[in-house]
Amino acid sequence: MIDATNAVLEKWQPKLESLDSTDSAIWTRISLGSVEICNSIEWTDWSLNPIQVIHCIECGHCPTGIQADISRLGEHVLWTMPEVNCNDGKFKIDEIDGQEGQHLLNMFEGTGPKYPEIVTILIPTQVWNIWQSTCKKLPQAANIPQTTRKQLGIAWISEAPKKMGLRSMEGAIDCIESQLLASSTMDTPDAVIVLTSLLDWISSDPQAPVIGQLRKPVELNAELEECYFDIPGNDMWHPFARLGDKYTFMFGDDTILYPSPLK
Ligand SMILES: [Zn+2]
Repeated sequence: MIDATNAVLEKWQPKLESLDSTDSAIWTRISLGSVEICNSIEWTDWSLNPIQVIHCIECGHCPTGIQADISRLGEHVLWTMPEVNCNDGKFKIDEIDGQEGQHLLNMFEGTGPKYPEIVTILIPTQVWNIWQSTCKKLPQAANIPQTTRKQLGIAWISEAPKKMGLRSMEGAIDCIESQLLASSTMDTPDAVIVLTSLLDWISSDPQAPVIGQLRKPVELNAELEECYFDIPGNDMWHPFARLGDKYTFMFGDDTILYPSPLK
């Protein structure tokens, strides 16, 4: 997960062709280092989900294909990639013809935004509400819909080693089972049982809101499970952690869902 606690809001002015010289648009972008996670708070329709968060910097209207699902989980606002982005892996600019295609080529091949491919972005609600107080176009954190089990699942697979090819919830367990070689504290079949339980919890009610928080494992004495996969290069992943006698989802090396969703 990308921690966007230190992201900043910046005003900037795109040179939109659709506006004449007497007119101008001032946009507010959300930047994290060299990455723009949204290039216009003003032109984003925050009432939708998923929402387009990167807008064409030449006309404002071309569909850039860069969308995020925005949800709230405990004390965090979560941006997950809609499953359609995950399936594609990457937006295919060359499929768009004419002026739109040219705009987008200029944007992505030039100095335009560089968007992380398939990632989850995490923003503390406290930080979000500070942004909201200076830019009223943003919804208040309390009004952002709660993260669903399915969105949590997308966040989870976005943290899997890319070489596993895990791109959607469907078939995830088959993909994991066929590649899992070993697990640090249990036999491989037992690790598959844990993973199946977690994924079954998602598929049993994918639109249900998740009750819980994203927390640091060290604060809760959670034990991270190391799973090794039959893939070249990067072969280790922490897909879950043990919390007492229960297991829970783990995201990257430093975030778990608390409490465990399993009975
Ligand atoms: Zn355009």
